[in-house]
Amino acid sequence: MKTLIVGNWKMNPENLVKAKEIFNLINKKIKNFRNKEIIICPPFVYLTEFLGKIKNNKKIKFGGQDCFWENLGAFTGEISPTMLKNLGCDYIILGHSERRQILKETDEMISKKIKAVLEAKLKPILCVGETEKERTEGKTFEVIKNQIQEDLKEIENCKLKIENLIIAYEPIWAIGTGRACQASEAKEVLLFLRKELKKNYILYGGSVNSQNAKDYLKTGFNGLLIGGASLKPDEFAKIINFN
Ligand code: PEP
Repeated sequence: MKTLIVGNWKMNPENLVKAKEIFNLINKKIKNFRNKEIIICPPFVYLTEFLGKIKNNKKIKFGGQDCFWENLGAFTGEISPTMLKNLGCDYIILGHSERRQILKETDEMISKKIKAVLEAKLKPILCVGETEKERTEGKTFEVIKNQIQEDLKEIENCKLKIENLIIAYEPIWAIGTGRACQASEAKEVLLFLRKELKKNYILYGGSVNSQNAKDYLKTGFNGLLIGGASLKPDEFAKIINFN
């Protein structure tokens, strides 16, 4: 089973020259990738360049940071799963907390997206996680259970390859804050998710860096979803090269 290392560049960097520089450095620095699947999810506008130029790249695969649930039509500003598939993407992040919170994306929308992505034969990476308030109030499991239930509603009773769904446990209070969740605490959530999702990859995300990355993998997570550190070639490569 390969370890999944996913880099979420979010809305960075500001131009293609910088994007290529970061990508080329990462590509050069990563060595130990045979037992790993390395996925970079850059902004859509850089995907074409990366996928067009970097043919036969065995080290790195690509993903989108979101997509729409329809495949064609009058949906101004949206990008479809089929478009991303045709471009050469393999994965799509869905339900990231920034989209849930800032763009008011609902579980209903996320559920439709998961279905569309699976139908397009792409692998959705569904992000779930609790806020700091919810954790303090002891609601972590309840929140996550609810997110999974609601987000998978559209694919209940479908003959889609549910094993292709990847879950990323991302405690919201740990994203971009430098306050990573202790591996022991994250493990409790992993075990909780594992009861329901026996065959799915489960990743950890939230302030992962080269110091703490191995703790989550040792704990049993199948991989990592990395934001800030995936834009720092040295740091990202260290995380990948560690074993
Ligand atoms: C993320 O964007 O999903 C994320 C985990 O970010 P960071 O690693 O910066 O906390």
